[in-house]
Amino acid sequence: MEKTSRADHRHDAAAQRLRFIPPSRAYLTCELPAPFPDVLDQLTYVTLDDCQQCRPALLDRVAGDERATLELVFWACFITSETYCGIPSRLVADDEPPDAPFRASATFRALARQYGAHGRIEDTVWIHRTAAQRREAADTAVTLVAGLSRWSTDFLYQ
Ligand SMILES: [Zn+2]
Repeated sequence: MEKTSRADHRHDAAAQRLRFIPPSRAYLTCELPAPFPDVLDQLTYVTLDDCQQCRPALLDRVAGDERATLELVFWACFITSETYCGIPSRLVADDEPPDAPFRASATFRALARQYGAHGRIEDTVWIHRTAAQRREAADTAVTLVAGLSRWSTDFLYQ
């Protein structure tokens, strides 16, 4: 079964609200084997639509593949870095205030720190991550890009 979303509804219209290049057209992400470029796009669109019906299965799907998750995180870090002229400290700090409007997962923070420092994410910091950690990183990545699409730079500082 290769279903990426429920047959009774689609989220393609959300593509119009994505202010950034979708994962399927991003450098590296577009070179993932099928169906991952499309799965990453769909995850982005259901996140923009805030659809809790489609989102969990798509997150599981992405987290099941190390490469797909890593490229998704890289894509989100690239967009974030372009938006804020670097990775904001709020996104990587471990002592973020509990009332912050957006909390990045611990796994995402570790990867974003690497990206901020070196402009890339080494496989070595990635290779021992569990599926649950990949899932939380993917969750943060698309939530972040959806938030930046909606609120631009205000997103992290509402
Ligand atoms: Zn849906």
